[in-house]
Amino acid sequence: PPAEDPLVVIDAHGLPYLDPKLPVKKRVADLLARMTPQEKAGQMTQAERNALKSPGDIAAYGLGSLLSGGGSVPSPNTPAAWADMVDGYQLRTRAARLQIPLVYGVDAVHGHNNVVGSTIMPHNIGLGASRDPELAERTGAVTAAEVRATGVPWDFAPCLCVTRDERWGRSYEAFGEDPALVTSMETVIRGMQGAPDGRDLDRPDKVLATAKHYVGDGGTAYGSSTTGSYTIDQGVTRVTRQELDAVHLAPFREAVKRGVGTVMPSYSSVDFTDDAAGPVKMHANAELINGVLKDRMGFRGFVISDWQAIDQIPGDYASDVRTSVNAGLDMVMVPSAYQDFHRTLVGEAAAGRIPQARIDDAVARILEQKFRLGLFEKPYADRSGLGAVGSAEHREVAREAAAKSQVLLKNEGGLLPLKPSQKVYVAGSNADDLGNQAGGWTVSWQGSSGRNTVGTTILEGMRKAAASPESVTYSKDASAPTAGYDVGVVVVGETPYAEGVGDVGNGHDLELSAADKAAVDRVCAAMRCAVLVVSGRPQLIGDRLDRMSALVASWLPGTEGDGVADVLYGKRAFTGRSPVTWPKSQAQLPINVGDAAYDPQFPYGWGLTTLGAPAQGGEAALRALAIAAVAVERTTGADSEAGRAVADRARAIAAQRIGGRFTQATSGPFAEADHLLLTGDLTGSVAALTAAFRAAPR
Ligand code: BGC
Repeated sequence: PPAEDPLVVIDAHGLPYLDPKLPVKKRVADLLARMTPQEKAGQMTQAERNALKSPGDIAAYGLGSLLSGGGSVPSPNTPAAWADMVDGYQLRTRAARLQIPLVYGVDAVHGHNNVVGSTIMPHNIGLGASRDPELAERTGAVTAAEVRATGVPWDFAPCLCVTRDERWGRSYEAFGEDPALVTSMETVIRGMQGAPDGRDLDRPDKVLATAKHYVGDGGTAYGSSTTGSYTIDQGVTRVTRQELDAVHLAPFREAVKRGVGTVMPSYSSVDFTDDAAGPVKMHANAELINGVLKDRMGFRGFVISDWQAIDQIPGDYASDVRTSVNAGLDMVMVPSAYQDFHRTLVGEAAAGRIPQARIDDAVARILEQKFRLGLFEKPYADRSGLGAVGSAEHREVAREAAAKSQVLLKNEGGLLPLKPSQKVYVAGSNADDLGNQAGGWTVSWQGSSGRNTVGTTILEGMRKAAASPESVTYSKDASAPTAGYDVGVVVVGETPYAEGVGDVGNGHDLELSAADKAAVDRVCAAMRCAVLVVSGRPQLIGDRLDRMSALVASWLPGTEGDGVADVLYGKRAFTGRSPVTWPKSQAQLPINVGDAAYDPQFPYGWGLTTLGAPAQGGEAALRALAIAAVAVERTTGADSEAGRAVADRARAIAAQRIGGRFTQATSGPFAEADHLLLTGDLTGSVAALTAAFRAAPR
């Protein structure tokens, strides 16, 4: 351990770095000049709070940060206990020579999700469906207010992955499959941090955000990894430099512009197909961290590693440490190896294998954010916001987000919205399960089924929205769905998971469980039925779609089941649009908008609304045209022969979808597009088709 006696408290008052009136740059320079190599290494070290061998190690090693990994919670798990816990650790820094405060971090990825009773937002995939950047900003602000109130100034969110294959267990952490959509939702960073220049970070309701996981985490190939047969999580992203730039780097460019305070590299590797260098772990990727993120994009915050990720770099531990720090990592989440890491980092730097300038740059970046957060002036929790954790006002935002995240995929005969007077039969595994509708990263890392926090299930929301609670009959397994009901509502889907390939119970293949299929079949055979899919990603519906009058993608709506009930009962209109493509079959995976052969069950961006009248010409035709429009739009322009092939394909899909009834329209909104397509004017047809598609009632 470092030489300083942790029990000696030196009164550091009066030193320039403690003067809040000095510019941050001056304060950083002053403090840095006073630090020993041990103290510098300490700032670059982040330990997990449960892994501390002794609380005194905070001062003894001069740790820069502690984190609560998923489920590392105080007992009792209340907002006040969180504030006490973080304050207790912060107090320990007073025993260190320079009294540099900790920057405590948590994963608050959909609200302050580690804390029982907090407001749980829909997971990002649902926010992506809302297509509402202003709403995303408010969810970020609510999350930040609840997190900071408990003394935590740093949130490892948002995830900016562009998810290209839904077999990945983190698909729900993504706003969607399209980089432009992901980028548009980055208003959430403003909600969390405030102004891009960092001037709001010292407010008691703002936190430092983390853009993660840099870069290509959503692009890993299924079935090919360095470690397993089908591992897609922490796998290898095989791309050209151009593709990486357009698809995966784009959201990070925007995050840097928005002043995001920290960036977390991905566990995955990038393998550029335009050279033969082979896969490089992102935590060792100097080209992409130093070169692209810091030099080219001009990122000024600090880079925090992922959990124990440097251990995956080939070579011994000393090589892991110097390779990652030399590649541009500023702080390393070790999380239990903090003693080893500290010793090794000091040794590698002393031996000159990590340049002094690199160490100073890393520490300066960390200190700058600590000054901006106001931690030197106010290291302890400002408890004035504790009462707002899980408040009615915050839940109102989550309810709105839950409602706007719902995507109406099918609505034959206008079954939805329900009328409050209708007699409704509710069934399915996810109708009355708060834990399932909140998903992973809820109270514990993996999340859990059942009532694990405070909130309203979809069933409870429906009972409140119906004319009387008796209008809603519930049977989880759909026993005896006999006559006498106007409508059936079957809520199916996944059980919680985090990371990996997800929902192993369901075979992680996007199939509904046998029990869910049986419930759908029983209810839909007995009455007109709406099916809600509560899941972190599309599920395979297949031919069952024909038996359903209505189908809703509910994603993981969070604690406010009332929001789902709002759209079911027409208090709000369905306005969500799918942020990902819905495949027809397992064999189609991966499937994304822009693929040459694009024949999904529901295209990217699909979503009916209950705002206006049902679309003329029927949903099937509209859907086919939507598929055609996006396929043609994305592929033409570059090469006319490829464009023509896609157009032909799109027309074939359209014809097949509506049972051959699709002949060239001679009048109506699609006539011009159809004509141009047939005459081979692809540019013109794309424009007309897209315009007609956009103008069509949805
Ligand atoms: C995840 C990160 C997370 C970290 C800290 C890792 O397993 O990949 O997204 O921020 O844990 O909890």
